[in-house]
Amino acid sequence: MLDPLQLLIEYARFPSISADPAYREGLAGARQYACGVLEKLGFKVEVVPTGLHPIILAERGGDRAWPHVIIYGHYDVQPADPLDKWTTPAFEPVVRGRRLYARGTADNKGPQAVQFAALARVLEENPNLPLRITFLIEGEEEIGSPSFGEFLKKHRDRLREANLVVLSDTGSPNADQIVITTGLRGLTGLEVTLTGPRTDLHSGIHGGAILNPLQALCELCASLHAPDGRVNIPGFYDDVREPAQWERDELAKYPYTLDDYRQFLGVSQFYTAPGYTALEAVRFGPTLDFNGIGGGYQGEGSKTVIPSKAFAKITMRLVPDQKAEVIRDLLEKTLRHRCPAGIKMEFSMKEGGSPYAVIPPGRPNTPADQPPVVARAFAAADAAITECFGKKPLYLREGGSVPIIGQIKQQTGLDSLMIGLFTPEDNLHAPDESFSLDILERGVNTYAKLLKGLAAG
Ligand SMILES: [Zn+2]
Repeated sequence: MLDPLQLLIEYARFPSISADPAYREGLAGARQYACGVLEKLGFKVEVVPTGLHPIILAERGGDRAWPHVIIYGHYDVQPADPLDKWTTPAFEPVVRGRRLYARGTADNKGPQAVQFAALARVLEENPNLPLRITFLIEGEEEIGSPSFGEFLKKHRDRLREANLVVLSDTGSPNADQIVITTGLRGLTGLEVTLTGPRTDLHSGIHGGAILNPLQALCELCASLHAPDGRVNIPGFYDDVREPAQWERDELAKYPYTLDDYRQFLGVSQFYTAPGYTALEAVRFGPTLDFNGIGGGYQGEGSKTVIPSKAFAKITMRLVPDQKAEVIRDLLEKTLRHRCPAGIKMEFSMKEGGSPYAVIPPGRPNTPADQPPVVARAFAAADAAITECFGKKPLYLREGGSVPIIGQIKQQTGLDSLMIGLFTPEDNLHAPDESFSLDILERGVNTYAKLLKGLAAG
């Protein structure tokens, strides 16, 4: 019997910070620890080198007729800074109340402890469980998974043989209401630089003779939204899939009101494109945002200058079925087309990630060709969560982006079942990260039922 709390305490002791080269040893420790657990569970464990931190690929083989599930997770964690804001040291796990405190307990070692312990229990009951399982645990998630695309291309044929991916790296509102995430927004963007005169100029000697690149930039940026809040790029909305009515109904059950949200944001009014409430807009709608605008004099007081250059950093959150490359091209084309004479325009591009969506079984818009194992997995997860957490899960799209989920879909065709096991109280990426012991316990029961439900009948 594997005690999930003990396992998590040991796993969370390794400072596996992927962003900082000083923590290579901590990463190796966490990786070896996870490999050791999987070996004890009877898995054939392979450590696949990448440009940076290796990926764990562990297999429980079996009859090719058995269903095959990939369980995804990551052994790396966020940096612990600011260290003085932690009540107890970030890599000395400690229980206070009904929570375990340490960096990585929620994101993502706790959910993995849940999966390992559930699997140990199920295999103890039935060592011949008719289910093939591949654990895929990466070490670069917190730095944007730079090696994952390459890894996927190389191992595509092998991974494609599976039926679906299961993971718990998304959130739920609280320990009683679990969310199954059915969609993620994509992300793309660019930085645009405008150049006017060859150098900064005196606005008294030259003002009035030329177009100021800051003015050109402001006009260009302002042109990218219509007065009603919609993004003003021709073709931007062409591939947007409107949410189904069941998705809006599901969101209406979310235990959070528009007023809660408005107060949380500290604004007097929302600004959303027509057709969506603010809570819908962040999940169902695409956006264009200015993340930074600069140029000219930024110091104290004033300086009468016409700057030579101005820049804007622009990103867009995308929804199904928009494609990252297509939308970025549309933005670039629109900016070029609107660029005033006398201004030079240059771009630097950002890596893009396309959005992702999956429709659970039994909905009016469920694809007729949904693989039976995917339908079974969703049904098994629904029943397990309802029984172990005492409440039916909510099926919601999320506003954030997990680019690897879209990549997996594109490269292998596999859908993902995302069971949210962390909550806002867990302080992800912040000081005093923790994981709820109630979720740990209920999570193990849930995953045990899910695994049994997934196995061949
Ligand atoms: Zn994570």
